[in-house]
Amino acid sequence: MEEVCSVCGKPLDEIYAVSCIGCGGKIHFPSAENVKDSCGSIVTQWNICGLAFVCKKCSAVQKPFSDVKTNA
Ligand SMILES: [Zn+2]
Ligand SMILES: [Zn+2]
Repeated sequence: MEEVCSVCGKPLDEIYAVSCIGCGGKIHFPSAENVKDSCGSIVTQWNICGLAFVCKKCSAVQKPFSDVKTNA
């Protein structure tokens, strides 16, 4: 069973696949050193304990993901 990244369409490595909290799609694990080339970004403090991920497509549409707490 091969899954592909919902952003770049390349095959996903089981170890580096994460789910977007916006659309639920599987994406490559975002690399902090390669943000511009990564398929998504890491989101923290979003009513979730621990880390969450948002894909590039969702982060483009819903910018406030990481700013939710500042508007409370
Ligand atoms: Zn990808
Ligand atoms: Zn998404």
